[in-house]
Amino acid sequence: MERTTLHHLKRSEAPAEPAQHVCQLSPRQVEYLLKPLDFRRVQVDPNGFKYVKAFDIRVWLNRVFAVGGWDVETLELSNTLDVTYKNSDGAARFNVAYRAQARLSVKAPCGHVIARFDDAAFDAKTNQGNYGDAHDNAMKSALSGALKRCAVNLGDAFGLSLYYKDIHADQQIVQRMIPYVGDPRVQQDEAA
Ligand SMILES: [Zn+2]
Repeated sequence: MERTTLHHLKRSEAPAEPAQHVCQLSPRQVEYLLKPLDFRRVQVDPNGFKYVKAFDIRVWLNRVFAVGGWDVETLELSNTLDVTYKNSDGAARFNVAYRAQARLSVKAPCGHVIARFDDAAFDAKTNQGNYGDAHDNAMKSALSGALKRCAVNLGDAFGLSLYYKDIHADQQIVQRMIPYVGDPRVQQDEAA
């Protein structure tokens, strides 16, 4: 068989240019992001607001993007209220509040950041008996809240349905991601 050299190749037979790199999630990651929120993950606070715990959000970030596949940065953390007063018994009580701004970055399997979300949250703890705990709890709640608000942009698996009043928490919201419908698994869903 004749040895083929580049010189002998016709233009149409020339080796293809390396395809342009496109950062994209894997079909399995897309599948997990589109999963409706399991109602067992939904918590209800004393005011009746539904939410997903911050550690659950971290579990799902690890599950979908892996350790090293996501990162959360604190862009700002401010102590906006720090008041000490005495209650009727003369004991010291504390009102404390924090505002936190966070940035969540997630990477595609190629290792490049594919999305970044910034959001903020505020939390106040009032009538607290322990100064340290009051600060610790308000700070942590503000930071967790900011992370959760960033993560909700990732869709169903991160609690998007909880933002809808008249939709069951486990109802699928996003349903499909158009740039990924080439994936047979997602295509099946598209036809449904
Ligand atoms: Zn990439």
